[in-house]
Amino acid sequence: MGRIVQLDEKLSNKIAAGEVVERPASVVKELVENAMDANSSKIRVDVSEGGLSSIRVLDNGEGILPEDRETAFFRHATSKIKTDRDLFRIGTLGFRGEALPSIASVAEVTLKTCAGESEGEKITVKGGQITERITAPPRQGTEIVVRDLFYNTPARLKYMRTVYTELGHISDVVNRMALARPDIAFELWSDDRKMLKTAGHNDLLRVLNEVYGRAVVKEMKYVKASSEDFQVTGYIAAPSEARSNRSYMTTILNGRYIKNPALTKAVQTGYATLLPVGRFPIVCLHITMNPLLVDVNVHPSKMEVRLSKERALQELVSEAVKEVWENTRLIPEMSSPE
Ligand code: ADP
Ligand code: MG
Repeated sequence: MGRIVQLDEKLSNKIAAGEVVERPASVVKELVENAMDANSSKIRVDVSEGGLSSIRVLDNGEGILPEDRETAFFRHATSKIKTDRDLFRIGTLGFRGEALPSIASVAEVTLKTCAGESEGEKITVKGGQITERITAPPRQGTEIVVRDLFYNTPARLKYMRTVYTELGHISDVVNRMALARPDIAFELWSDDRKMLKTAGHNDLLRVLNEVYGRAVVKEMKYVKASSEDFQVTGYIAAPSEARSNRSYMTTILNGRYIKNPALTKAVQTGYATLLPVGRFPIVCLHITMNPLLVDVNVHPSKMEVRLSKERALQELVSEAVKEVWENTRLIPEMSSPE
């Protein structure tokens, strides 16, 4: 008898959860991504105690078909890709089929969904296993509630910071999702307190206004540039509004919020000496490019991407930002004496 065994699905899901579900904000990100992929026009997130006690994501999307509701909790089960060709032209936020099984292995999950039938369904998953499946009132879309996150992974739970810190991460995720999709109406509530509400009117400036406030947005400049491979549009704030960290720099690639050091560097290069050392601008850039030029399959969180032609994109971005400031008078003109 050999010594190597194939781990069962429950255990391998828990291992995957270690990467996919780092903290409550990762659960929010995965569930909101699913709601976005389901073509929802309205997404509401409610969290309690920084998401550690409960996270609820409600959407008005397509719902999950009755025959898919169990499979949705299987590892590597997805409706978003089928062949390896699809992997290289991803048009959805999800594709790994890991979120639901991972989350369900480290929390209690209740799924209520309806895919256009006269009756909905409620499914409860505990310890990675479906424990209840009953009919529920019909609804438009899906509601997922995640309770007691990390109840069975005490080491991970211990690593969680204060409610305030976890809520900060959640708020950051939802803000960026709202910035990525101004056409979707988002709401975030924390213990019944409203944190964010966007209208879904497809107006990026209005979403920026909700996220950063009028004072910042009033001074924002529009950026637009394009080349054969890329299109860049967005808004950048005055250097005087610069912050002490990079978390106000949002780059969205084909509708996906990404973390890309090359791009943030390119933005900073565009501001050049206008930015004091150690200060970072508030910017929100939407980049569109051929999905064939992007590899999203880099990390389970899908936030890192590899770009072919990265240098060309960097140049396009820094030139576009630079041009804005070259054409803007930053020092107010002295009023001439009467
Ligand atoms: P992925 O998003 O990578 O496909 P997930 O584990 O996140 O994997 O979800 C598994 C499947 O469950 C999805 O492919 C999708 O078909 C379905 N699903 C999950 N959440 C929703 C939702 N809110 N609305 C509709 N379908 C959903
Ligand atoms: Mg997903």
